[in-house]
Amino acid sequence: MRFGGIEAGGSKFVCAIGGSDGRILIRSTIPTTTPEETIAEVAGFFRASSVNEPLAAVGVAAFGPVDLQRNSPTYGHVTSTPKRAWQHCDLVGMIAEAMGVADVAFDTDVNCAALAEYMYGAGRGYDPLVYMTLGTGIGGGAVIHGRILHGLVHPEMGHLRIRRATDDAFPGCCPAHGDCFEGLASGKAIAERWGAPAHELPQSHAAWQLETHYVALGLADIIVTLSPRRIVIGGGLRRRLLWPVLFDDVRQLLNGYVRAKEVTDLISNYIVQPALGDDSGVIGAIALAVRAAAEAGGPSASTFTRTGT
Ligand code: ZN
Repeated sequence: MRFGGIEAGGSKFVCAIGGSDGRILIRSTIPTTTPEETIAEVAGFFRASSVNEPLAAVGVAAFGPVDLQRNSPTYGHVTSTPKRAWQHCDLVGMIAEAMGVADVAFDTDVNCAALAEYMYGAGRGYDPLVYMTLGTGIGGGAVIHGRILHGLVHPEMGHLRIRRATDDAFPGCCPAHGDCFEGLASGKAIAERWGAPAHELPQSHAAWQLETHYVALGLADIIVTLSPRRIVIGGGLRRRLLWPVLFDDVRQLLNGYVRAKEVTDLISNYIVQPALGDDSGVIGAIALAVRAAAEAGGPSASTFTRTGT
């Protein structure tokens, strides 16, 4: 069986067809313009690429704030985004209609990346699994008992109220909280604090020591809250972290309180980089589709599928 995956991003849509093993067979990248134009191109790609074998299901990993509440009248809609043309757009409904399918599985990009690493990547066999992305923003998703953690809304690990370092005068850049985790440690925060974007700061710059400390604070909070069996850190900024310092810092922050050997002795095997690299979003969309097809007709199918419009 073949499955369609769409990573819907603010600058591009990555579309792919994959098998149930999560392997990508065909892919295409489409620039994000208006919803009508972009989604028409997406549908065109899938029409042309699935002539010989129809797709068993389609999954969407969506950017930005999206309504995940199945009972909500705006389920599947983008809620607020700086991209005006996409504000309040019925992303899931438009994709389903353009592709001529009744069901589109749908979740946030970070939740999809968590599921992808859990099913096919560095998180295989580790439950609960936490996936965190460090980029322009910071986000985290969790897979618990084999399922993506949903709740009132969805986890907002980027907005943990971590403690600001005493020698950090930067007030933070989160519009809601100022110096929350994302407000202190996102790519946006780094650029504002140091007056230069992350890619212009050399690896010897003090920015990376501070960044590593903030990530350690965030991870320590997540470890004591969700008790993950493994944490995968994705996003471009992960490449700039001082990993050995991160491991020491997390251990010091926990201070022997979490006695598992994964933390005390094997932490470099506990906090790891993704196995799927930058493909975790689109593979996550395929993973959602695989799940949706497997669960279709089952008691919990509605968790992942949009049923009717
Ligand atoms: Zn915040």
